[in-house]
Amino acid sequence: MTEGCLTSIASINVQHTAVHHYRCFTLMSIQMLSVQPDTKPKGCAGCNRKIKDRYLLKALDKYWHEDCLKCACCDCRLGEVGSTLYTKANLILCRRDYLR
Ligand SMILES: [Zn+2]
Ligand SMILES: [Zn+2]
Repeated sequence: MTEGCLTSIASINVQHTAVHHYRCFTLMSIQMLSVQPDTKPKGCAGCNRKIKDRYLLKALDKYWHEDCLKCACCDCRLGEVGSTLYTKANLILCRRDYLR
């Protein structure tokens, strides 16, 4: 069957070469919000504790401590590094690691 042979050759070019399969990641924005003192504290998606800081981060439709929204690769605080992150499943990367 020649068809089968052609398919297998073509698929070689489709293989990912990057470590993180970066094409599968989604670019998301990070918002820094100031916490209003008269509102109920939000739960942090990272540590599940209430956010009582003056500022919190909003990303992936969740709220985070500034300390809790970190890159899975280099552990940097994403709110400080920039206003974007890259995500796939439960993995969050900073722009630097995503581009690596
Ligand atoms: Zn937290
Ligand atoms: Zn990183």
